[in-house]
Amino acid sequence: PQGKMLVFGESEQVMHDVELNQLRKRIADLEKVSATDYLTGAWNRAHLVRVVSSEMARSIRFRQPLSALLIDIDHFKDVNDTFGHQAGDTVLREVVALIQQKIRSADLLFRWGGEEFVVLAVSTGYRDAETLAEHLRARVTGHRFTGVGPLTVSIGVAERTGDETADAWFKRLDAALFTAKNDGRNRIVVDSLGDSDKWVAEGGLAALRLVWRDSYACGESSIDTEHEEMFELANKLI
Ligand code: GH3
Ligand code: MG
Ligand code: MG
Repeated sequence: PQGKMLVFGESEQVMHDVELNQLRKRIADLEKVSATDYLTGAWNRAHLVRVVSSEMARSIRFRQPLSALLIDIDHFKDVNDTFGHQAGDTVLREVVALIQQKIRSADLLFRWGGEEFVVLAVSTGYRDAETLAEHLRARVTGHRFTGVGPLTVSIGVAERTGDETADAWFKRLDAALFTAKNDGRNRIVVDSLGDSDKWVAEGGLAALRLVWRDSYACGESSIDTEHEEMFELANKLI
């Protein structure tokens, strides 16, 4: 009877683990959905708020610059007015696809609102962020949007600096975009404040940094925690 009870107990435990794993997977799926913009598949603004604070903490801890690009489609209202809202939606999806093709896997793309997008470029100072912005602008300008034709974007660029808050940083970002619009659109304006120059000069900038992403997780929290810690240890070594 003892053996039988043990078998029964084990199978019950197995059932429990299977259910628990299904539940964990379901929660992970729901978290992904709630962080994703439904129309474009980019991350949404709520997710940006969460990610920004953790990326800022990492940036300070590892003396790695962190830059943001604010990308706004020029005269997008005219696209809707001329070609209809559905064509506008297609443009938004295509813009996201174009940006995704150009950014690094550690960089993150968010839909900030309507026809505005934010790229968080990790381990990137404002100079490299400007280069990235130029590539993105050129990529969009060279594209013929389905049923619409050519379009342009304006981009503001700012690196987070000193001990400024995310709000202060994004105010500079917004101001840079505003200037780009005022200066005639289809251009990039960079706010050249940032710690990256100083960090490079002090020789304290690591050439490489491993960035843990939630998408690397297998769902088993003890394993994921260990892997995440391994990334941090490797970064210290680097
Ligand atoms: P600017 O060059 O100054 O950026 O001009 P703009 O026309 O792009 O900017 P404005 O802010 O005047 O218009 C943005 C438009 O984006 C207005 C709004 O109807 C449209 N829009 C916002 N969200 C969506 C969406 O999800 N789908 C579509 N099709 N249009 C959207
Ligand atoms: Mg706008
Ligand atoms: Mg616009």
